[in-house]
Amino acid sequence: MTEEEKKELRDFIQSEIGRLKESIGLAKNTVQPVAPDNAIGRLTRMEAINSKSINEATLNSAKIKLGRLEKALRDLEEPDFGICVRCEEPIPFGRLMILPESTVCVKCIEG
Ligand SMILES: [Zn+2]
Repeated sequence: MTEEEKKELRDFIQSEIGRLKESIGLAKNTVQPVAPDNAIGRLTRMEAINSKSINEATLNSAKIKLGRLEKALRDLEEPDFGICVRCEEPIPFGRLMILPESTVCVKCIEG
């Protein structure tokens, strides 16, 4: 990976982290306990509970993704970043731009 590619990838990861933190912040506001006399517009309590569990699922997956991206950002400085852990070939830059947390190349995932 060239220095330019690395910089591009770092910028990308940082913007993704920013975006995730923002959506985690928004989701947190909606994951508050549902009070019995809840009056969120026209939502019934059941609907409020349903939307709460959806938000919790979104929040959890966002947190997992955030953790992976933060790790990728740290690993980016390691000399073996972007190297497939199985075949030790470089992972194509295009793949890293889609999934920066990739540790195996497409060939090894499929194989
Ligand atoms: Zn591989």
